[in-house]
Amino acid sequence: MSSLVLLLLLTALASLVSGGGACSKNHHFDFVLLAIQWPQTFCSTTACVPHADRWQIHGAWPENDDATWPSNCCTNHPFDASLLESIEPELVASWKTLKKSGTNEKFWAHEYNKHGSCAHDAPLLNDVFKYFNNTLAAFREVHLEKWLTAAGIVPSTGRQYSARHFDHAIQVGLGHDAQLSCVNRKGGVSTISQVNICLDKITLKPIDCPLADRNCKTNIAYRPTH
Ligand code: AMP
Repeated sequence: MSSLVLLLLLTALASLVSGGGACSKNHHFDFVLLAIQWPQTFCSTTACVPHADRWQIHGAWPENDDATWPSNCCTNHPFDASLLESIEPELVASWKTLKKSGTNEKFWAHEYNKHGSCAHDAPLLNDVFKYFNNTLAAFREVHLEKWLTAAGIVPSTGRQYSARHFDHAIQVGLGHDAQLSCVNRKGGVSTISQVNICLDKITLKPIDCPLADRNCKTNIAYRPTH
């Protein structure tokens, strides 16, 4: 037998022993970013289903301290919506699609495939049920409406709030620095679109976010749904 044929046989054998097409690479990340969105800002540029003025989950994203992140990783646990039936009511309440053209299943599959698939190294997120169930559990501890209202920050058509005041209100409630994300329209005001809470990747408990606010100007709008 030629050495080339022998090499090919050995490679095929090694692949069989290691489980064939199974994923083996763990994608590095430093923490989990819990992205919480304000529906009205998303819906000001997207055709949306009816929604309330309630902060809701966008996703749980493996993230690095330098603001890079892995995405669309190979996973041994492919998305399967039937695994989520027991937690569907809470998912619909806290993590629903806002897009008129979308479905919850498509939104959840997108978030899981793009971000959840990279969470091998987060023991509480590394399969389909755990990813959704434990993200819901982390979100249950985040009371943005309460913390902001306590600081006099409520959705308003006319008022703006200083980003520092906004940040401080969340810092007091959460006990850690979060990160605000805004949409800045040409010549317009900076509008809050997302509050990012950083979680320890092992415990999913809040930690200080390593980076300050992404793109909010000094004053930000927090608009109600009309
Ligand atoms: P991501 O790829 O995780 O950064 O999320 C961005 C994508 O998710 C974009 O295609 C958005 O239009 C979509 N998206 C964000 N929030 C929602 C939502 N609440 N419902 C449906 N799609 C959303």
